[in-house]
Amino acid sequence: MQDSGNDGGVLDLGADRPASARRASRLKTMGWIAGAIVAGMLLGLLVIEIFPPGGRGKAQFAAPLPESRPAELPRIVTGRAGAEAPLVVIDAGHGGFDPGASGPSGAIEKNVALAIAAGLRDRLVELGAVRVALTREDDVFLPLEERVAVAEALKADLFISIHADSAPVEEARGANVYVLSGRASDREALALARSVNGDDDAYADDGGDEVEALLAELARRETALGSASIARSVEARVKGRLPVHGRFVRGGNLVVLRSAQMPSILFEAGYISSEEDATRLTSEEGRAAIVSALAEAIVADLLAPRPG
Ligand SMILES: [Zn+2]
Repeated sequence: MQDSGNDGGVLDLGADRPASARRASRLKTMGWIAGAIVAGMLLGLLVIEIFPPGGRGKAQFAAPLPESRPAELPRIVTGRAGAEAPLVVIDAGHGGFDPGASGPSGAIEKNVALAIAAGLRDRLVELGAVRVALTREDDVFLPLEERVAVAEALKADLFISIHADSAPVEEARGANVYVLSGRASDREALALARSVNGDDDAYADDGGDEVEALLAELARRETALGSASIARSVEARVKGRLPVHGRFVRGGNLVVLRSAQMPSILFEAGYISSEEDATRLTSEEGRAAIVSALAEAIVADLLAPRPG
């Protein structure tokens, strides 16, 4: 709230009043006129107090309202790729008050994930074939759903979430890739059907829910195929260059993989609980090997000709 600043005006009026009263006692008629003038002044001041000429009322009204600004989307780095190039959204897991896993050597997952994400962005920009955005560029917390929503809002062609694993046994080490397994919920399928149909409901008129469900299912399958394709591409570049943990490509019903609009994978860069993996994850050299393999896999997959 802003101060009115008009208190001085009210005090001035009080000082004028005795002068008007003296003039009124000398001449009755003049007194009435003076009284009318004072009343007029009072009324005028009252009007100014309520509706100040400078528009104070408006300023006072605007001040307590929160500034309405649209949710901020991360910047897209285009580089030499051009505005039409596919967009890769890289999501550094955890952040802010959520540190993720931590290793015996003091490595923290949120920092490792951000370092790999930033390194991957730089490498992709260097290769010049795709556009890149990060869901977070700093040590901030982002809800899982928001990470996906940001990528969808940017109309990403690929979403890749970067994490590091942890296990109670020191022997566990190596990288993994996760793709979504399990059916998308009905709500998501319906939302997708709407986005496929757009505002024009012509399809719904002669097919009803069955056509919508079918379109949703087809789009969902196409997205799943895209996710499997990028996972295989990562597998081909990572195996032989980095240690992998058991079966490399795994399925999981993870929140960050549930988008029906873009292929999504979650990359576990290694076990932060393993000393050997932690050394790779926290060194420039080690991360460069991870980042090169990922970048090559992404470019090869996104630029590969698609059937249909
Ligand atoms: Zn994690």
